[in-house]
Amino acid sequence: MESVNVLFRLAVLGTLLTLSACASPPSSVPDIKLYVFHCGNIEVRDVSVFSPGVNQGQPKTLTDSCYLIRHPKGDLIWDAGLADQLGPQGQEFYDGLFYMSMPTPLLAQLQAIGVQPEDIEWLGLSHFHSDHTGNANLFTQATLLLQQEEYEAAFGAQAREYGFDPDSYSQFNADNSQPLQGDHDLFGDGRVVIKRAIGHTPGHQMLYLDMPKSGPILLSGDLYHFTSNREHQRVPSFNFSKEQTLDSMKHMEDFIDRTGAQLWIQHDKEQNADIRHAPAFYQ
Ligand SMILES: [Zn+2]
Repeated sequence: MESVNVLFRLAVLGTLLTLSACASPPSSVPDIKLYVFHCGNIEVRDVSVFSPGVNQGQPKTLTDSCYLIRHPKGDLIWDAGLADQLGPQGQEFYDGLFYMSMPTPLLAQLQAIGVQPEDIEWLGLSHFHSDHTGNANLFTQATLLLQQEEYEAAFGAQAREYGFDPDSYSQFNADNSQPLQGDHDLFGDGRVVIKRAIGHTPGHQMLYLDMPKSGPILLSGDLYHFTSNREHQRVPSFNFSKEQTLDSMKHMEDFIDRTGAQLWIQHDKEQNADIRHAPAFYQ
């Protein structure tokens, strides 16, 4: 009688353990949050620098975006925007071709959600143009993630000839940089993946996010600056390589078709009006 009772209890226990194993969420779904920050305004006096021969002399307003990805294994900032020091009054660049301003400091936007920049483990920059490196030096404890070619351009003697501003990323050097040779799955779970997409600059890259609730999102870097350039596959006149850019556009459009990712064009003001910005977040 006693042994039957023990067997019965063991059977019940086994059933309960099986049920609880089924009820617990799969460990492969991490808690990831994506915050979007407004990292500046860019008034372009002649938009045809982005679309050679098209809309010559026409002005266009672009936005500038930065992102924070909070993953259980660490925090990643993607692009560092225009420098906080520009302030809301801003200033002209490139003989007045651009007028750029930074209405709300990135530092204040981070602090508003309880994040201190020195707590950030990773800084990923799509490329090193100064509208993406402006606040890089805030992230003094971060490891910089960039393609090998961008590393050589950004830390070489000719950096300014690529349109880079070495003062804006002077906190970084070989000791806290991680040059990449292609795509890089940051946390090893396929959720946060840097995608090599060269051409805009020597080592331009993008960021793929497989969000547990929102689904796949691809952050454009400057593969495109606005939607019509995507529709027509137009290459800005100042890109490092038109041929590489067109190859990257094709490669990444194929990737978008395969994954079903939403493409968020970081500079597209109209598209960003429909994207929730911090303190709201995506999961
Ligand atoms: Zn840009």
